[in-house]
Amino acid sequence: MSETISEKLKKELCTSSKNGLLKVDDKIIAESNSFAEGYKTFLDKAKTEREAVVAAIKLAEENGFCEFDRTKKYIAGDRIYINNRGKSIALCVIGSEPVEKGINISAAHIDSPRLDLKPNPLYEEIELALFKTHYYGGIKKYQWTAIPLALHGVFALKDGTVKEVCIGEDDNEPKLVINDLLPHLAQEQSKRTLNEGIKGEELNVLIGSHPFKDDKGSELVKLNILKLLNEKYGIVEDDFLSAELEIVPAFKACDIGFDRSMVGAYGQDDRVCAYPALTAIIDVKNPKKTAIAILADKEEVGSMGNTGLESDFLRYVIGDLAKMQGGDGTVAIRNSKCLSADVNAGLDPTFQDVMERRNASRLNYGVVVTKYTGARGKAGTSDASAEYMAEIRRLLDDNSIIWQSGELGKVDLGGGGTVAQFIANMGIDVVDLGVPVLSMHAPFETTAKLDIYMCYRAMYEFMK
Ligand code: MN
Ligand code: MN
Repeated sequence: MSETISEKLKKELCTSSKNGLLKVDDKIIAESNSFAEGYKTFLDKAKTEREAVVAAIKLAEENGFCEFDRTKKYIAGDRIYINNRGKSIALCVIGSEPVEKGINISAAHIDSPRLDLKPNPLYEEIELALFKTHYYGGIKKYQWTAIPLALHGVFALKDGTVKEVCIGEDDNEPKLVINDLLPHLAQEQSKRTLNEGIKGEELNVLIGSHPFKDDKGSELVKLNILKLLNEKYGIVEDDFLSAELEIVPAFKACDIGFDRSMVGAYGQDDRVCAYPALTAIIDVKNPKKTAIAILADKEEVGSMGNTGLESDFLRYVIGDLAKMQGGDGTVAIRNSKCLSADVNAGLDPTFQDVMERRNASRLNYGVVVTKYTGARGKAGTSDASAEYMAEIRRLLDDNSIIWQSGELGKVDLGGGGTVAQFIANMGIDVVDLGVPVLSMHAPFETTAKLDIYMCYRAMYEFMK
């Protein structure tokens, strides 16, 4: 049967969108499945920004990266990393062109929403010991009750030593929990709005119930906990004042679906982009332009602080590289380009109302390019230029990367931001590119394996 004129014209002129799994061959599906295995392993050992930096350094060193030394001169093909306080890291592969000609930068963040312990967290109430927390990033607080939790982080002691803490991850280790009210007695609680269902000051973590055996004295459960912590980490109660301790879900990453096409895990925003950025820079061998993958901290609280991307860290990294070649860092910055790798909200079958379907990203439709973020009139967005969008379209299409365009929800409904704005402020062309996520910022988030692999492919082609 021959094609009609309108059918032919339609094919030539109209956008056609199709599920990525129907576009790719079995080889790509096998590659994305095997990429997801590495990703799940990474998720389980990198639940905090500090752990992600440790995992990144390990992988980098196994693949020929060395810590940057300002006194050394590096040549094309050399592989270096710059560790920013153990919470953020830049990995670079030196290009054959001078750094001044510009750098191809992939940026992702390695902090995720969680509950931080307060400076004075430990207390006892009715012979139960608990931790007070202050949540970090945007969470739906009720989601964090009645699930197994783990404690990760560090105690920094006055003598300069740092004690690493990780408890609740091994199957035989104890977990912690935040308890919720039983439905039988929740008549009053049920009248609260969902946002207030559990309040910030109700996110109290149960950590013990066994009193230290003594007929006299008070708060013996708390005392017993301190005794255990002292035996394990050599700390006293005051040491909580110089600690960074994070409560995270104790779940492990796993496949989702009878068809195993998806990944479920805590902290996929934004490790679902950080892992592709990391593995992509590892695979970059002899680039023309210098490539940098930066894994940043503090995105979930506005990229603030000296490990966030609003700081001058990236500027100094580029400056150091340019200076090493006798070049100028500001010239290098102005010639640089960036993919800001962060997640977008995938269209959820149950909550389609919040999305404008023509512009929402969908699972298995590939890596999502988000021209602008922001909220209510694009406020707070860096909005990538048409010219840069065209360049990225060309890059993706020329390399057969499955991709889609996306927007974060309906106009006037909400919105969000990424690190793109801070990189744009430096004068760098930047666009958001990442993976659609369901249940974003929940203790357990869902993504699709094909999209994750396409995120890796996009970042590799961009930096190579
Ligand atoms: Mn994010
Ligand atoms: Mn986020």
